[in-house]
Amino acid sequence: MDRSQGSPKRSSAAGGWGALKSCGKHLLGSRAPLSGARALLSANQPDGFDCPGCAWGDPAHGSSFEFCENGVKAVSWEATDRRATPRFFAKHTVSELRGWTDHALESEGRLTHPMRYDAETDTYRAVAWEEAFAEIGATLRGLDHPDRVEFYTSGRASNEAAYLYQLFARAYGTNNFPDCSNMCHEASGIALTQAIGIGKGTVLLEDFEKANAIFVVGQNPGTNHPRMLGDLRRAAERGARVVVLNPVRERGLERFADPQNSVEMLRGASRPIASHYYQPKPGGDMAAFRGIAKAVFARDAAALAEGRPSLLDHAFIAAHTSAFADYRAAVEATAWAAILDQSGLTREAIETAADVYLGADRVIATWAMGVTQHRHSVATIREIANLLFLRGHIGRPGAGLCPVRGHSNVQGDRTVGINEKPPAALLEALDREFGLSVPRKHGHNVLGAIGAMLDGSAKAFIGLGGNFVRATPDTKLVEKALSGCELTVQIATKLNHSHLVPGRIAYLLPCLGRTEIDRNSRGKVQIVTVEDSMSMVHGSGGINKPASPHLRSEIGIVAGMAAATVGSERIDWVALADDYDLIRDRIERTIPGFAGFNTRVRRPRGFMLRNLAAERVFETATGRAGFSSGPLPVATEHQRASARGDTFVLQTFRSHDQYNTTIYGLDDRYRGVYGERRVVFAHPDDLAALKARAGERVDLVCVHAEDGIERVAEDFRLVPFDMPRGSLAGYYPELNVLVPLSAFGEFSDTPTSKSVLVQVRARAQVRARAAKPLGRAA
Ligand code: SF4
Repeated sequence: MDRSQGSPKRSSAAGGWGALKSCGKHLLGSRAPLSGARALLSANQPDGFDCPGCAWGDPAHGSSFEFCENGVKAVSWEATDRRATPRFFAKHTVSELRGWTDHALESEGRLTHPMRYDAETDTYRAVAWEEAFAEIGATLRGLDHPDRVEFYTSGRASNEAAYLYQLFARAYGTNNFPDCSNMCHEASGIALTQAIGIGKGTVLLEDFEKANAIFVVGQNPGTNHPRMLGDLRRAAERGARVVVLNPVRERGLERFADPQNSVEMLRGASRPIASHYYQPKPGGDMAAFRGIAKAVFARDAAALAEGRPSLLDHAFIAAHTSAFADYRAAVEATAWAAILDQSGLTREAIETAADVYLGADRVIATWAMGVTQHRHSVATIREIANLLFLRGHIGRPGAGLCPVRGHSNVQGDRTVGINEKPPAALLEALDREFGLSVPRKHGHNVLGAIGAMLDGSAKAFIGLGGNFVRATPDTKLVEKALSGCELTVQIATKLNHSHLVPGRIAYLLPCLGRTEIDRNSRGKVQIVTVEDSMSMVHGSGGINKPASPHLRSEIGIVAGMAAATVGSERIDWVALADDYDLIRDRIERTIPGFAGFNTRVRRPRGFMLRNLAAERVFETATGRAGFSSGPLPVATEHQRASARGDTFVLQTFRSHDQYNTTIYGLDDRYRGVYGERRVVFAHPDDLAALKARAGERVDLVCVHAEDGIERVAEDFRLVPFDMPRGSLAGYYPELNVLVPLSAFGEFSDTPTSKSVLVQVRARAQVRARAAKPLGRAA
């Protein structure tokens, strides 16, 4: 980073040679370049494994190189030849390891043995699998109620592992399913279920080839789902308009050089992506979409007054939607002043976006966590859907709604039953299929689970992958919650901070990665399945030798715990774990849409789960797509911050060398940051108003919570960046300490990690706790 003055030096375009260089660096850094490179040729291939990175879809006719820079990082990170063996754990106490960075912990490499925490020596020690299962089972059986246990899932778990896991938890007697999706797309699921009757998007990858306007909202594909850039670029090349709404100006959305295009690479050329780039204030998207709709209604009124046809799709509205009149009235009642103030956009920008919308006959709206992690995220997503309904942009080619999921199988896990508020039909099907009487009472999501562990009503935590303490908000409170447990079990490929907050009894159980060959007791190679953001279900089978002979698959580990806890009378866990086809048969009989599962998933590229909304069949209470008509928020966090004068709205996001809580390296190439993570981005004029210089180190103090707990993130370097005044941005998990548990989305319970109210303080002032915050000019 340029540590003196001015903006950091950013790479000229996303992708390109920078991406190729980075791929080489990460392959070499894994110390297993050959197995890593070989594995990459199998990534996202019909007879290979699904990339363990994001959930972006695979094309129907792909090439041999269906992966991106992030895919390379994910694969090489897993295919490394580094090992965290029992000898490593004997040398380092858990207390010592707690002082290591996230990156340093995972850099130790793959876990090799099941480990049990020994409180006397404060170290993990190797243990036999059967001993681990027996103690876990006995401890769970000894609890006075099944709701004392929290069954957490990460989006890496396959459909088969997730299905078996929910079956285990429900056979045991609880619906406590805190899930990583609670931290990301929960608002999408809720808003879309209300609006179109299904909590998923309605588009396929092919629709990006047909759309002539694509609205990309609160999303940074260059880092989070890079192959999407290729689809956006192809759309831009054939003349589609790509309208970006994102507070931070992200390089990946501006220009992209395709590393797989040799001519372009040799010429050092790149192509623009966004035709229009708007930078709303954080949380301003709802107002922006309402503004676009207001402009559309005005244009429509003008057209009718001039005797031209209506610009709205009245046939669609009449046949397929409800509450249109209420929505129209709400839009008309919303003053432009409120729209402009909340969105932070000019009237001209909104009118232009409306022109793009009206000029396209096939429109896609796509979004990610910049939309979903606010207090009013559900309302915002409904507002996006409202706009698409106006001209019938749903359920036809080249048009529709597309929430872009993060982790590889986060959508599939929910499909196969990871749901703390399960539909009655699922529970009835499980009872019928397995002769059970599974619980009906709703369970805990992530916030509920943390609360229950903190108040002592939950006493055990089982993590099927993930890094709970780093993925969740309010890090210190979550550590307190986890460490108070009677039992913690963490299923993982690599060491992370969640493993260093042991309960009284604590196990660290190593599992196979997505890239590794999974053989059953007869030597037969097994495949698992995953579902991408476009509802496509793919088979996935690894090709690398397992990192250690002691690893078990996630499915095998779940089955081992289940057999030791609930017994095998009704469910033959061992048989299911020994032949995943049997699990798929059970999924087929209990989850809609999986008819012929074992056959269909072996077809190249798998199959699409039926999506009724994409067929204009809306399974809502009215049987129609529902317009929503709520008012804009009384005040966004941005408006609250402005009113206070000395307060900023902070959003947390990923660096480019990061995937969720996994830190592959310390660079953020597209934002010009190298070798460090403790940075906070701010508008240059805000730095001037703070009388702070670029490069100066500051502390950030949360002023968002009312529980009296002081939340401080210490020692961050200020970096000027192109973003709205009054807003700040920096990386999670480092900044999660500032996100209070009490700040979460309405209806979604998603921590509002994109709108945390903070003050900036000089380092010495925080230590003294006496000085005033650095002030910000209004
Ligand atoms: S776009 Fe996502 S799924 Fe595809 S290769 Fe990259 S990280 Fe993996």
